[in-house]
Amino acid sequence: MLYKLFLRKQLLYFCDKLNITMIEVKTDTIVKHFKNRKIEMERKVLEIPKSEIFLFLNKEEFNSHCRNACPNHNSKWTCPPNCPNFEDYSESYSKIQLFLFVTSTKQFDFLPQEECSLEAYNFTKEELQNYLRINEPIDGKMIAANSCEVCATCSIINGKPCYFPEKMRYNLVAFGFNVEKILTELFQHELKWSAENIIPEYVSSVGAILKK
Ligand code: SF4
Repeated sequence: MLYKLFLRKQLLYFCDKLNITMIEVKTDTIVKHFKNRKIEMERKVLEIPKSEIFLFLNKEEFNSHCRNACPNHNSKWTCPPNCPNFEDYSESYSKIQLFLFVTSTKQFDFLPQEECSLEAYNFTKEELQNYLRINEPIDGKMIAANSCEVCATCSIINGKPCYFPEKMRYNLVAFGFNVEKILTELFQHELKWSAENIIPEYVSSVGAILKK
């Protein structure tokens, strides 16, 4: 893994009902490869007390989006309604580290236009996923960038317990977090959406690690 030789630090102030918290966002650039081309990704990292992430949790509202729009709903052990309550799951942890990977889609413009956004997003998500797995501490727990993809077909479809409980990890959306609000308020980062014939300027993927 190659890194640019500098690490930028940014201090942000997160204000909720005048309870002001100073947040340090560390940013650097990672260089990876996709189809023999160098791809640069911006990596942003911050850490806050776990209690502060509850401000972004609304299980009822965000699980309803999963129920109404996602084919994975009730089709994976990691997706609603099978995902545990975040309050219970995170009980033994005191801090949460959040990771945001951002990739400019221009770097994928050698692909057909209709593949560009999805390939850039999948690449970014996979890189973040691998990074989180490698960096999960023994006494911590990774919160993935997406629903579990360890098995081609989740065991829940066959009415069986999870085949790899030691590998499966939940994700922020399934817990019911407002990920867009986390990005705007904690990272000062705007999500860009793709649409038919519109390639967003960049794609973003976010995950976390719960720590003692
Ligand atoms: S590890 Fe396999 S069985 Fe377990 S949640 Fe993930 S996809 Fe489903």
